[in-house]
Amino acid sequence: MQRLVVIGAGPAGLTAAYEATRFGLDAVVLEKSDDVGGLARTADFKGFHFDMGGHRFFTKSGSVEKMWREVLGRKLLRRPRLSRIFYRGRFFQYPLRPGNALRGLGPWRAIAIVASWFKWQLFPYRTEDTFEQWVTNRFGRRLFRTFFQTYTEKVWGVPCSQLKAEWAAQRIKDLSLKTAVSNMFRRRRTTIKTLIEEFDYPVLGPGMMWKAVRDAIVDAGGTVELEREVLRIEHDGRVVSRIVTAHDGRPEEIEGTDFVSSMPITELVAKLDPPPPPGVLDAARALSYRDFLTVCLIVNRADLFPDNWIYVHDPRVKVGRIQNYRNWSPAMVPDPSKTGLGLEYFCTEGDALWRSTDEELVALAIREIAAIGLASAGDVAEGHVVRVPKAYPIYDSNYREHLDVLKTFLAGFANLQTIGRNGLHRYDNQDHAMLTAMLAVRNVALQEKNDVWGVNADPDYQEEVRLETALQRVFAKLDRFGFGVAVGAVAAAVLSLASLFPLIKGDPVMGHELALLAQYLPGYEASAIGMLRGLAYGLVGGFGVGWTFAVIRNAAALFSLAVIRRRVESRLLRRVFDYV
Ligand SMILES: Cc1cc2nc3c(=O)[nH]c(=O)nc-3n(C[C@H](O)[C@H](O)[C@H](O)COP(=O)(O)OP(=O)(O)OC[C@H]3O[C@@H](n4cnc5c(N)ncnc54)[C@H](O)[C@@H]3O)c2cc1C
Repeated sequence: MQRLVVIGAGPAGLTAAYEATRFGLDAVVLEKSDDVGGLARTADFKGFHFDMGGHRFFTKSGSVEKMWREVLGRKLLRRPRLSRIFYRGRFFQYPLRPGNALRGLGPWRAIAIVASWFKWQLFPYRTEDTFEQWVTNRFGRRLFRTFFQTYTEKVWGVPCSQLKAEWAAQRIKDLSLKTAVSNMFRRRRTTIKTLIEEFDYPVLGPGMMWKAVRDAIVDAGGTVELEREVLRIEHDGRVVSRIVTAHDGRPEEIEGTDFVSSMPITELVAKLDPPPPPGVLDAARALSYRDFLTVCLIVNRADLFPDNWIYVHDPRVKVGRIQNYRNWSPAMVPDPSKTGLGLEYFCTEGDALWRSTDEELVALAIREIAAIGLASAGDVAEGHVVRVPKAYPIYDSNYREHLDVLKTFLAGFANLQTIGRNGLHRYDNQDHAMLTAMLAVRNVALQEKNDVWGVNADPDYQEEVRLETALQRVFAKLDRFGFGVAVGAVAAAVLSLASLFPLIKGDPVMGHELALLAQYLPGYEASAIGMLRGLAYGLVGGFGVGWTFAVIRNAAALFSLAVIRRRVESRLLRRVFDYV
């Protein structure tokens, strides 16, 4: 019987096993931690539920949506979204609203922001190598400093002047202040839609979904083994034969016919036995991650703030984002007089923040929540820390090159596929991680040849590119000179032939229409010289008409393109900080 061995019980790994059992395969999942869900697990601290980052469930994929509904049914709630930005002691609506921004920043700062935008439109950076240059050229330095710099630097831990522009360009493609301003001045009806989007969320957080998927796998005859860290993947260069895990300090061997891995691709490569060539190991070592930790606080107050989460751009505190899980789902909090907060700190495994003791981190979080003014230190009942390694695969300037080396090397295995966010080193949400798993299982069960790496990493971006390409085709630019010459040639032919027509008829007197035309075209008459003059008039006049038409038509097409593009940009802008 075909036996699928899956590494990792996150959304991708569990989806793979779930799908495999539906195809009648024997499936076993090996997970190193003591819980399922991976990055999308839910921590339980004294009956309070804490999500690792706040996982919205939204997808454009019918198969993913179907699976979520199948598994949780009515336990998947439809929730409203509200999030704001905190910057220098003020809250700003997200996306920005003019009245709110003016009150928050003050009219002088607002004027300075617009002036700065003009300045950078006139004198932009000549090269756009870094994130700082890229954003400044589009938004001006003031807006960059106010709303982009500090949050981005908290997330990635490097100055914006060192962050590659490529990353930004992928994420916030072609946004402009024009879009930001037009968004700011949209009517209230649209605002409500953009400020408060909706998303699905399990009653008890994402962990509830992944626990239910685990149960479904077990019910269908599969196995999910926790606390099984994969130590070694044995192979003969083409076929993987078995996996060695550690359980209770003892090695365990697991055999299978097919293998799917959602563990970080860098670790997978390092655990292959025999090891891959040095170039492959070097490529794996060159890929890196950003980690994060969340300090869960139980606060003795019911209504702290209305947001699901707040982006903390303020440079005076280290916290990057604050989640209010009570607003994600009231059931996340077992006591209605209390609130569960998650203060998220972006860091790198081994740095000072990561190495701080849990007591130090809880104390820091309490100090910062009080400094921001969301709760006083005395309101906080208890705190708990969860560290989340490898939360974000980093897209640095060479990551694609290194990833290609790993991809090519792993393609040499007949029965090993990598899936999921870190399995493919890609900034994927749950749905895309799941889709890669679904495709990988079809490859095994149905011998299909789906390209797991081809699963869409950035649908909005690709959608935009598709839209742009289609529009460019529809609104293809007319060549002014060519169109002028073409119209000129046709007009010349018509005018010259028309002047010959009376001669051919044997009556050199021009008809009424031609006589009328001759009043505007001196010298145009029914004769050989008249024909030459008609030729010249046609060429010059026709060229002028054709050229002018092409200019007007190109301008109209450009305008239409700009309007459509702005609509797409507005959609992206709405989510810009979700990406950063
Ligand atoms: C802060 C944050 C916010 C997010 N918000 C959203 C959101 O709003 N909506 C959304 O859809 N997605 C969101 N995501 C993305 C989502 O968490 C991931 O897409 C998803 O968890 C990826 O699933 P995965 O199975 O590929 O990987 P993971 O969740 O990383 O699972 C991999 C599993 O492999 C296990 N593993 C690793 N090494 C080994 C080993 N050696 N042996 C055995 N097991 C091993 C790990 O313990 C883990 O359980 C967010 C992510 C983060 C970090």
